Amino acid sequence: VSKYSTTAAAAIEEPIKPKVQVEYTQLLIDGKFVDSASGKTFPTLDPRTGEVIAHVAEGDHEDVDRAVVAARKAFDEGPWPRMTAYERQKILLRAADLIEKHNDELATLETWDNGKPYAQAAQIEVPMLVRLIRYYAGWTDKIHGLTVPADGPHHVQTLHEPIGVAGQIIPWNFPLLMFAWKIGPALACGNTVVMKTAEQTPLSALYAAKLFHEAGLPPGVLNVVSGFGPTAGAAIASHMDIDKALAVYSVLEVKLAFTGSTSTGKVVLELAAKSNLKPVTLELGGKSPFIVCEDADIDQAVELAHFALFFNQGQCCCAGSRTFVHESVYDEFIEKAKARALKRSVGDPFKGGIEQGPQIDSEQFEKILKYIRSGVEGGATLETGGERHGDKGFYIKPTVFTNVEDNMLIAKDEIFGPVQSILKFRDIDEVIRRANSTRYGLAAGVFTKSLATANLLTRALRVGTVWVNCFDTFDAAIPFGGYKMSGQGREKGIYSLRNYLQVKAVVSPLEKPAWL
Ligand code: NAD
Repeated sequence: VSKYSTTAAAAIEEPIKPKVQVEYTQLLIDGKFVDSASGKTFPTLDPRTGEVIAHVAEGDHEDVDRAVVAARKAFDEGPWPRMTAYERQKILLRAADLIEKHNDELATLETWDNGKPYAQAAQIEVPMLVRLIRYYAGWTDKIHGLTVPADGPHHVQTLHEPIGVAGQIIPWNFPLLMFAWKIGPALACGNTVVMKTAEQTPLSALYAAKLFHEAGLPPGVLNVVSGFGPTAGAAIASHMDIDKALAVYSVLEVKLAFTGSTSTGKVVLELAAKSNLKPVTLELGGKSPFIVCEDADIDQAVELAHFALFFNQGQCCCAGSRTFVHESVYDEFIEKAKARALKRSVGDPFKGGIEQGPQIDSEQFEKILKYIRSGVEGGATLETGGERHGDKGFYIKPTVFTNVEDNMLIAKDEIFGPVQSILKFRDIDEVIRRANSTRYGLAAGVFTKSLATANLLTRALRVGTVWVNCFDTFDAAIPFGGYKMSGQGREKGIYSLRNYLQVKAVVSPLEKPAWL
C-alpha cells in the first residue's frame, strides 16, 4: 500500500539509472501497512538537494502501543517462538534471498534517503545485510542450554529462551545495516520486535521489512514505526504496559536495544530505568584513535587513515577521528594525507566514481561547519577543505586539520563529518595515555610492522575493537560495541544472542546418582 509514488529516481544521472519507486511509506504494524493514528506524516528529504522524496506516516505513542500489542500477541500466542528452530531458519533464509534479489531497489532507497555513494550501498551494505541475516539464520538451531554438574543429587539444566518483545531504536548513518544488526539476533532467538527507524531515513527498512513478510514472517513479529525520537522513540524506551487487558503480561519481558548518540543513549537508559527496568543495550558514539607508528608503511597508513575518517561522509560511530602520527613520519604523512583529501571525489552519490556524497541533513551540515570554525579559531592548521562543496544540498569539502591539540573541540567531540584531525606524538606510552583520555571507547586503528608494538597497543587501548593494519573490517561474526561511554553490550557475532535470551535453570532431584 503506497501513499506516495514517484519516478524521480529516473531523473538520476548517468551512469547509474536505478528504477525504483517509493512504495512503502506507512507504518508496518501486525503485518499490514497502516496510517498513523493521528493521520500525521513527515517529509523525508533527499540530501543532494533538500527536496522532499516522500511523506511518511509519523508514528507516536498510540502507534507504538498498537505495535507493542501486535508484537506481544505474536510472542504470547503466535507461532514465531513456538515453531521449530529449523522453520524459523527457513523463513530468515528466504528473507535473505529476497533481500539479495532486491539489492538494487534497497540500495537505491538507501542512497536516495541517506546520500551515501550508490556503489557503497549496492556492493557493500546490502550484501552485508544479507550476510548478517544468513549468519543469524544459521544460529537458530544452535541456541541451546547446558547440563550443569551441580554439587548434589540433582539433575540441573539451563534453557535459553527468548525474552519477549524487543524495542529497537536505530540511527540514520547505516539505516539498513543498523536494522539488520538489531533484528537479526532478536528474530533468530524467537523474539518479536518493535523497531523505530531514524526520522531522516525511514524508507529502506520499510521495504526490507515487507520482504521479511513475503518470506513468511508471521504478522506482528516485526513491526516498524517511523517517527521522531522524543515521541515514538521515547514511547518505546518508556513502554510499561499497553492496555489494561494486557496488564497480565510481565512488563519486564521487554528488551530495549538503542543505537545513536551518547547524549540520547543517556535519555533512553533513564526512560527504561524509570519505566520497567527493561534490559538495555546501547551502541553509542566514539572518538576513535588511529595510531600511525614510526615503522608503519606510510602510503598504506595514509590511505587507511583517510578511509577510516571519510568513509560514509565521516558519519561512522567508529570513525578514526583522531589521527595520531609519530613525529618522525609526521611531515611526510600530513603532505600525503592532504593530497589524498584533495583527490577525494565529492558529488552526486548516484554517479559512478563518487567517493563522498552529501551529509544527511542541514542540521548535521551546520554542526560540522561550526566544528570546522572552532578548529580554525582554536589554532589548528586548516590544510584543505573547511567549507561547503557546491551550492545546493549538504555537501562539505573533505577537510584536514593538522597541529591539532588534545584539548581542542575537534579532538574531543564526535564531529560526524568529513573532518580529519591529525595529532603528533613522540612515544608509545604517551600515545596510549592520550588515545585513552576520552570518554569514548568504541574502536581504534593501529599501524605498525612490529608485533610487539601491536600486542602492546591492542591490550592497552580501552576500546571495543582494535583494527591492526586495517580499519572498518566488519563481519556478521565479529562482535562490535563500546567501552566507557560508547555503550553497553555487544552486537553481532555470538555475543548479540545474549542480548535476546533469558537463561532458565531447571533443577530436579535424582532418585539415584548415576552408575549406581
Ligand atoms: P540520535 O541519538 O540523535 O538518534 C538515534 C535514534 O534515537 C533516532 O532514531 C532518534 O529518533 C532516536 N531518539 C532521539 N531522541 C530520543 C529519545 N528522547 N528517546 C528515544 N529515542 C530517541 O543519533 P543520530 O544522530 O541519529 O546518529 C548518530 C549517532 O549514532 C552518533 O553518535 C553515532 O556514533 C551513533 N552510532 C553508534 C553506532 C554504534 O554501533 N556504536 C552505530 C551507528 C551510529
